[in-house]
Amino acid sequence: MEQIAYVNGSFVPMSEAKVSILDRGFLFADGIYEVAAVLDGKLIDNASHLARLERSVGEISLALPETIDRIQEIQRELVTRNHLVNGMVYLEVTRGADTGRDFAFPKGDVKPTLVMFTSVKDIVNAESAKTGIGVITVPDLRWVRRDIKSVALLAQVLAKQAAAEAGAGEAWMIEDGKVTEGGSSSCFILTQDDVIVTRHNSSAILPGCTRKAVVALAAERQLRIEERPFTIEEALAAKEAFITSATVFVQAVVTIDGKTIANGKPGPMTNRLREIYVDFARATAV
Ligand code: PLP
Repeated sequence: MEQIAYVNGSFVPMSEAKVSILDRGFLFADGIYEVAAVLDGKLIDNASHLARLERSVGEISLALPETIDRIQEIQRELVTRNHLVNGMVYLEVTRGADTGRDFAFPKGDVKPTLVMFTSVKDIVNAESAKTGIGVITVPDLRWVRRDIKSVALLAQVLAKQAAAEAGAGEAWMIEDGKVTEGGSSSCFILTQDDVIVTRHNSSAILPGCTRKAVVALAAERQLRIEERPFTIEEALAAKEAFITSATVFVQAVVTIDGKTIANGKPGPMTNRLREIYVDFARATAV
């Protein structure tokens, strides 16, 4: 059966899901997106994703065409219509399609575009969670408002293509000698004295929803956390390294630029945080 997508008020087969070539998302990347995981047919940490959506659209003065409650209803209906058990819901809102290509916001009554679609992924049983992944390092070529989840992702496209060509699972972006974040993930290390280190939130990184949950879950368990930038040298000397995101949860990193971290296997802290996160995800799913 063909996948069903949501486009501006209608549920339609994927092959009929279309937007205008004048859409500002297409012309200017003038839009915001979100990705929420689905486990056993339920949305994971969705309130956090929808709160970030509201913040992101607010930062670019884009009014959502539907309420947050209605958006969650649509997400859930899409999961049901696609019989999705495990995977994710992608959501994008743009400043809509005007009558031409003007950089400034449309003056008339142009409705924002809202689209959603789902994809299948068994995040919990992913093979990479057992083996860990390698990452490569690349310069961070992005703009300075990375706290906004904008659809302008060219730097990440290039970073992740370089990773794919190198046979790596993610690219860690570097600025001023420090790791900012992964192409589509937040980065963590566990130091030799058992401190979990992840870069503090600022306009230099996207405030990851999974990062936020993992930091809170670790703090609840009295684990030591430092939110600060770290270098690749520190990561290579660490006990463990991992990434977090809605589409991998907590994922061990075992090599950086081909150099092995510790014994080259997912470490006990990473495995523990992954289990804790999956339990939290299941317990709070909607
Ligand atoms: N950082 C970047 C640049 C991302 O694109 C993503 C997710 O796509 C993340 C971090 C992780 O965020 P989340 O945990 O909300 O998926």
